[in-house]
Amino acid sequence: MIKKILLVGGTHGNESTGVFLINKWQRFPHLIQREGLQIDTLLANPAAIKANRRYIDKDLNRCFSNAVLKDESLQGVELERAHELVGQLGSKDNCRYDLIIDLHTSTANMKVNLVLTKHDDFHHQMMSYMQQRRDDVVVTSEAEMIPDHHFLCSLSPHNVIVEVGPVAQGTLHHQTIERTEQTTLYLLDFVEAYNQQQLSSESHQLEWFEYTGKVKYPVNADGQIIGCVHQSIQGKDFSLLRTGDPIFIMQDGSVITHQGEPTYISFVNEAAYYDQQIAFCTLQKKLKDL
Ligand SMILES: [Zn+2]
Repeated sequence: MIKKILLVGGTHGNESTGVFLINKWQRFPHLIQREGLQIDTLLANPAAIKANRRYIDKDLNRCFSNAVLKDESLQGVELERAHELVGQLGSKDNCRYDLIIDLHTSTANMKVNLVLTKHDDFHHQMMSYMQQRRDDVVVTSEAEMIPDHHFLCSLSPHNVIVEVGPVAQGTLHHQTIERTEQTTLYLLDFVEAYNQQQLSSESHQLEWFEYTGKVKYPVNADGQIIGCVHQSIQGKDFSLLRTGDPIFIMQDGSVITHQGEPTYISFVNEAAYYDQQIAFCTLQKKLKDL
């Protein structure tokens, strides 16, 4: 049974959609009330929200691995906040919430991206439920590469990130807010149906993507970016990139093409990843009959 749910916004301070929705639900709590469920709300990084920045010292959504939490040499606004949140929400093996839903946005065309940090019947049923209700849902998994997970939502045994895009950082966008809110309400519908054992037993093929790598921007000897994402892949998140397809247009007018095996791509030209000079991520598609 899922009894206590936490809805989170502002883990990244400039992803304003989640902040706006959490504020809205705090004003109008009846919108998220459900029979038999305790649903709380949280603004995760108030300092970053105030500054309208992703983070102040360190990405808060990279602070919740046991390795980081136990490292006493690490300091800063987000580390302090991470410890405060663990005190408030409970630790990974003793979380006060059965499910955490963390609301994010992307500047890339990520559609309604639901991010998994683990694979089990509950999470697969939840993703399947969502895929059958919205044709803009794309499931990705970050479970494989990260056993000791660093996401805030990974504090809870059940968790999901809702990441909607494209939307500019720090802006409020009607359609993005609506997509995020409707997705959250569908997730609550799922929990109600799950608790009441009213999920449809019809078979469904669950589709998700697993991350395989990151492609960096071309840079010169000084580390300056000297080519941008080619227009032919701009906005083409979750499409198949074939060998020989253009990926970068260089300052000198030349075109760099994809040399590896065909691969799916995502986070194409994501603004939040420029600090790491990541141009896009690569993924492989997985299918499972449920
Ligand atoms: Zn985010």
